[in-house]
Amino acid sequence: MHESVMQRMWNSAHLSGGNAAYVEELYELFLHDPNAVPEEWRTYFQKLPTGGNQSPDVSHATVRDHFVLLAKNQRRAQPVSAGAVSSEHEKKQVEVLRLIQAFRMRGHQASRLDPLGLWQRQAPADLSIHHYGLTDADLDTVFRTGDLYIGKQEATLREIRDGLQATYCGTIGAEFTHIVDAEQRNWFAQRLESVRGRPEFSVEAKSHLLERLTAAEGLEKYLGTKFPGTKRFGLEGGESMVPMVDEIIQRSGSYGAKEIVIGMAHRGRLNLLVNALGKNPRDLFDEFEGKRVEGLSSGDVKYHQGFSSNVMTPGGEVHLAMSFNPSHLEIVSPVVEGSVRARQDRRGDAVGDKVVPISIHGDAAFAGQGVVMETFQMSQIRGFKTGGTIHIVVNNQVGFTISNTEDSRSTEYCTDPAKMIQAPILHVNGDDPEAVLFVTQMAVDYRMQFKRDVVIDLVCYRRRGHNEADEPSGTQPLMYQKIAKQRTTRELYADALVQAGALSTAQVEAKVEEYRTALDNGQHVVKSLVKEPNAELFVNWTPYLGHAWTAQHDTSFDLKTLQELNSKLLNIPEGFVVQRQVAKIYEDRGRMGVGAMPINWGCAETLAYATLLKEGHPVRITGQDVGRGTFSHRHAALHSQKDASRHIPLQHLFEGQPKFELYDSFLSEEAVLAFEYGYATTQPNALVIWEAQFGDFANGAQVVIDQFITSGEHKWGRLCGLTMLLPHGYEGQGPEHSSARLERYLQLCAEQNIQVCVPTTPAQVYHMLRRQVIRPLRKPLVALTPKSLLRHKLAISTLEDLAQGSFQPVLPEIDSLDPKKVERLILCSGKVYYDLLEKRRAEGREDTAIVRIEQLYPFPEEELAEVMAAYKNLKHVVWCQEEPMNQGAWYCSQHHMRRVITAYKKTLGLAYAGRDASASPACGYASMHAEQQEKLLQDAFTI
Ligand code: AMP
Repeated sequence: MHESVMQRMWNSAHLSGGNAAYVEELYELFLHDPNAVPEEWRTYFQKLPTGGNQSPDVSHATVRDHFVLLAKNQRRAQPVSAGAVSSEHEKKQVEVLRLIQAFRMRGHQASRLDPLGLWQRQAPADLSIHHYGLTDADLDTVFRTGDLYIGKQEATLREIRDGLQATYCGTIGAEFTHIVDAEQRNWFAQRLESVRGRPEFSVEAKSHLLERLTAAEGLEKYLGTKFPGTKRFGLEGGESMVPMVDEIIQRSGSYGAKEIVIGMAHRGRLNLLVNALGKNPRDLFDEFEGKRVEGLSSGDVKYHQGFSSNVMTPGGEVHLAMSFNPSHLEIVSPVVEGSVRARQDRRGDAVGDKVVPISIHGDAAFAGQGVVMETFQMSQIRGFKTGGTIHIVVNNQVGFTISNTEDSRSTEYCTDPAKMIQAPILHVNGDDPEAVLFVTQMAVDYRMQFKRDVVIDLVCYRRRGHNEADEPSGTQPLMYQKIAKQRTTRELYADALVQAGALSTAQVEAKVEEYRTALDNGQHVVKSLVKEPNAELFVNWTPYLGHAWTAQHDTSFDLKTLQELNSKLLNIPEGFVVQRQVAKIYEDRGRMGVGAMPINWGCAETLAYATLLKEGHPVRITGQDVGRGTFSHRHAALHSQKDASRHIPLQHLFEGQPKFELYDSFLSEEAVLAFEYGYATTQPNALVIWEAQFGDFANGAQVVIDQFITSGEHKWGRLCGLTMLLPHGYEGQGPEHSSARLERYLQLCAEQNIQVCVPTTPAQVYHMLRRQVIRPLRKPLVALTPKSLLRHKLAISTLEDLAQGSFQPVLPEIDSLDPKKVERLILCSGKVYYDLLEKRRAEGREDTAIVRIEQLYPFPEEELAEVMAAYKNLKHVVWCQEEPMNQGAWYCSQHHMRRVITAYKKTLGLAYAGRDASASPACGYASMHAEQQEKLLQDAFTI
């Protein structure tokens, strides 16, 4: 019989149209999960020429061609006749199956998502039975339900259609058929269809929902009355977010999650802080009244503040952390991911069961900001994945003053970027709290089961302007006429519950009263809040707090152990074939370890990591080419030439060693740097390094540098020991990669917020990296790392240099000049030092000393003064740099140098030897570069 159903399709005039597409779709379904298609199709597909090879990679074209050929032959062999089609019913049966698929795929386009009813959407034609040649007369005919999850094998067309309509076109619009994995698609179909899109909740659950909505609305009303006109970026119109987040917390807890990290922008933030995380309303009121946080030099506005608390869930106590957030929308998402990953690493939670990220977005920014895409892209990458993020888009249909989709996006939904990773997207009407609860439960269950990202699009509205001082009708007149008449979510739901007899009016009013009283009394309003939180759930930062800035720190390390570590790094597994040049590098490192060769950059850097691991500090390094190093000096990951397997010697130093993580990142700066910031602000004991492929590429992550790395401590009191390595080389290779844009960082320096270092010897990079972790102070470190010094014959150190001493912010003259004869002092940083040194040696000058400033910020004024004091007869002091005058350290650091020079001798000035001011960082002509370089070196000795 079923053979004839298929025959009917092949003989149909629509074979190359709808039927072909349908068959293809069924076939695809079959490839991913043979049980997902009706039995008759399964049997048939298994007999196809490719049926034995059940791989999703089987070309559909092969199958389609097979159908077409078969259809042609059949048409030729048996012209269409009534006899060729077994029955009209079977024909209709096929159409019914197509109808089911259509609802799954496009039902969301006919769903009622907009609480304001402003969306103008045409329902897809293929959701109507008429599209399939079915008529109203067929409505009471019984058909097989195929793989429809309604608990019966047969049902009338009416029941099937109405069920689909209720499931897919109500107040939930589910997008999941773009997921390639059939198991996941079926999972959603089953969850939705088995309850026809609407599970029945208990009276307690409904009452709790209303209580949460009452809290969400109540806080906004209270703040509006108490602090009229003050900006709070209220949640009004999107109150359903509060029960939603609450449910995510409770349900994740019941799955055994121990920590949840939440990232969100300003809209509704105060509401969540008080109503979901349990911030004391009195503290919030104090902030409205202008209270300052002790110990912060600048602070931040209240709607950027983070918060931490512990709440009780059915699965036990859960620690909640809301990330601090700047105004730049979406940038907090990768920060949250990094923080979550650090917590998972701390707990040894490799799959993401114990720590869950929640990212809350705005609709316009979700569609518009590239970092959203970057963050999605990292969601399944080995160095960055966190076991799936629960995304909530608070879709209030307006971004500041833009609501017209012609202006805001090219995609149908604001959430479409999430489809790039096949994330399921659950759109839901915010004015249907039970639908909100249902999609939230599905989202948590999906994340916990499949460990992938999921998106909830909470379609709501914004009752007021962008903030409370804004008048929105100037730009959104019709929308705001509608909003003015719109009753609140709480009112609508309370009415519905009263009407259904679930609650009485008195009970509804009691909830409002109870909440208001709690606020009046300044009481906590989160009933599950744990008053005495279990501190083991989060990291103890006290060892790192309250340390004054110190440049010097003893970073010496036992020489014998250092040598042992070095030889362990050379242990390569049996049969592992190392590439020729890399093998040479390792052989040389062997010689360096026994003092037979001077230590070079790569060796010193590797030993810094090894010694830190030995002392119990984990190390994490990410960036685009960190395994090899941009200029091939590191080779921390070896790749077997035989089978491409990887071996990372730093992971095999000793039994039970701390983690050494090394990940070549995907091609992102913004999200990856933000991720590492999040990681470093959560894991104080580790050396966390992000290395740019080339230093100037960090400009792709400028917002992370400005808004987090350089200002986070002073705005939010969040310490961060992140290290940024910026490889570069002023080698005459053109405008890109010559400069690591030192001036950008120096311009951001104040209040000892970061450290900017330009090490010029292997020992200096070794001690600089060790200092970063061994010293309890946690400050971001920006290190400009060189290209040519990686192999420069003069840029070398000894084993003793590594074993003893510490990082030197100023390196004095190294040649034994007679200080009395020295009349000229050249100050410089970075690789130009070696050019100057070679020139002086070549010219045999004894009147000029060359001093390196290895740390430009905090500027080592005292150390410089000490070095200068040795020279009593100075007549000239020159700052020499390779960068143009408007770049490099000249403008940002000269006041420090002048202060020291003036103290030495009032009349002694500071001259400049460097390139002229330039729009571009470097010229593109090698000959011009050489001329400029020659001149600046000459100037340094003569000007
Ligand atoms: P969290 O797990 O992020 O909620 O952090 C728990 C507590 O640790 C916070 O309340 C802070 O007191 C402290 N803490 C977390 N991160 C930092 C940081 N980066 N700098 C200083 N203290 C921190």
